[in-house]
Amino acid sequence: MPLAVIGAGAVGVTTALHLRRLGHDVTLLSTDAPGSENATSYGNAGWLSPGSVVPISMPGMWKKVPGYLLNARGPLRLRPASLPHIWLWLLRFVACGATPARARAIASALRPFLADAPERHARLAAEAGVPDLIQRTGLVIVYPDAAAYEADAFGWQLRRENGVRWRTLDRAALEAACPGLGPQYGFGALLPDGAHCADPGGYVAALAALARERGVRFAAGHVDGFVVEAGQVRGVRTAGGVVACGGVVIAAGMGARALGATLGDTIPLVGERGYHVQLPGVTDEPAIPVMMSDLKFGITPMTGGLRAAGQVEFAPDGAPPDWNRARILLDCLREGLPMMKIGGFGTVRHWMGNRPSTPDCLPVIGPSPTTRGVFYATGHGHLGLVSAPWTADLIGRLVIGAPVPEAAPYDPARFLRFRL
Ligand SMILES: Cc1cc2nc3c(=O)[nH]c(=O)nc-3n(C[C@H](O)[C@H](O)[C@H](O)COP(=O)(O)OP(=O)(O)OC[C@H]3O[C@@H](n4cnc5c(N)ncnc54)[C@H](O)[C@@H]3O)c2cc1C
Repeated sequence: MPLAVIGAGAVGVTTALHLRRLGHDVTLLSTDAPGSENATSYGNAGWLSPGSVVPISMPGMWKKVPGYLLNARGPLRLRPASLPHIWLWLLRFVACGATPARARAIASALRPFLADAPERHARLAAEAGVPDLIQRTGLVIVYPDAAAYEADAFGWQLRRENGVRWRTLDRAALEAACPGLGPQYGFGALLPDGAHCADPGGYVAALAALARERGVRFAAGHVDGFVVEAGQVRGVRTAGGVVACGGVVIAAGMGARALGATLGDTIPLVGERGYHVQLPGVTDEPAIPVMMSDLKFGITPMTGGLRAAGQVEFAPDGAPPDWNRARILLDCLREGLPMMKIGGFGTVRHWMGNRPSTPDCLPVIGPSPTTRGVFYATGHGHLGLVSAPWTADLIGRLVIGAPVPEAAPYDPARFLRFRL
C-alpha cells in the first residue's frame, strides 16, 4: 500500500525511513526541505536526554508563572494578543501536571520515547554515515546550590522512578566537568546516559539522504488537503496535484493542526516559540551540554559553534519573532560562562521556531478519529528530536493495523471534545 508521510522534520524523516525499512512504498511530502531552518527540528538544543521525563507542567507551576512573566529577562513571555486563542489550552496545560499523580502519569508515558533514545539515535546516525553527530558525553544540569537542587526533589524523584541515572556534583566537580562555569553555580547533576546531537539540521538532512537511498521518494510541496472516499483516505492534495496513496502519516509539526482541521480532527497544538543564539568559532566552550536550571536554558556544543537555546513565548500565529528573547539568551550565556569571549548580538546567529505542543504534555500518535488510513505523529513539544525513533516505531506498527496498546496515551481521539 503506498504511504504518504507529510513533513520533513525529525519526526517525518525518521518515520519515512522506518516505514521504508519495513517494506512500504513511501513518498515524503514537505513544504520545506529536510534540514531547513524553517523546521523546528533545525534549531533545537539537540538534547537526547532520558532525564526529560519530567513534564513541563508540574505541581506548583502556576505559582511560578507570575514571577516568570513579570521578569522582563525571564524564560516566559505571553503576548496579550495570543490570549483569546490559547487561554483554554493554557488552563488545561497548567492542570495536566498539577498533582503529583498526574505528573507521574505523564512521566511514565514519556519514558518509552526517552529511555533508549541515545542508543537509537547513535544507530541511526551511524547508518546515515554521520556517527559523530550523536555525542554520548552525558549532560549536566546546574543549580546555584544544593538547596536549589533539593527544591527540585520531585523532578529528581520522577527521574529515579523512571530508571534515570545521575550523580550529583559539588563545585569542584562542576568546574572539572564544565570549565569556565560562572561562580554562581555551586551544585549540579551529571546524567551520564544523556547524549546530544551536534547539528540537528544536518542530522535530519543526513537521515533524509539515507531514506532517499533506501527508496523513499521526496516531493517538495505544501499539502493543503486530502482525497477521501467513503471515509478512507485515497490521496493528498498539493498545488502540483494529487498524490495517490492508501495511507497518510501527518508528521508536519505545527502544520498538523491545520491539516487535521481539513479532516474534522481536533489536533490542539499551540506553538511554544523558542529561540537560539549560536556563536560560531568559539574555542573555549564546554565539551558537555549544560542546562542552567535557574535561567531555564541549555547550552550545547554544536559543529557550527556553541548554541544557547530556550525561552517559551506564546504569540499569535504568524507574529514576527521578538529577537529580544534571543538577546536575553545571549545575556544569560554571558552570565553562565563569564570567562568566555562573547561578541555583541550582531556577531551571533539567531533563530526562532515553534515547539508543537499539546495541552497534556504528551504527543499525538495514532489513527485519525474521522478518516481511515490517516495517522498522526506530532505534538512532541519540547521533545520532538529525542522522541523521533520511538514515534517511528509506533507508527510502523499502527499503519498495519497491529494492536499497539502502549500507544493508548497518545491517541488523537483524546481531544475529540477539546476546542481551541
Ligand atoms: C528552542 C528549542 C529547543 C528545543 N530543544 C530540544 C531538545 O533539546 N531536544 C528535543 O528532543 N527537542 C527539542 N525541541 C523540540 C523539537 O525541536 C521539536 O519537538 C521537533 O523539532 C518537532 O519536530 P517535527 O518533525 O514534529 O516538526 P518540524 O521540525 O517543525 O517539521 C515539520 C515539517 O512539516 C512540514 N510541513 C508543515 N506543514 C506542512 C504541510 N501542510 N504540507 C507539507 N509539509 C508541511 C514543514 O515544512 C517541516 O518540514 C526544542 C525546540 C525549541 C524551539
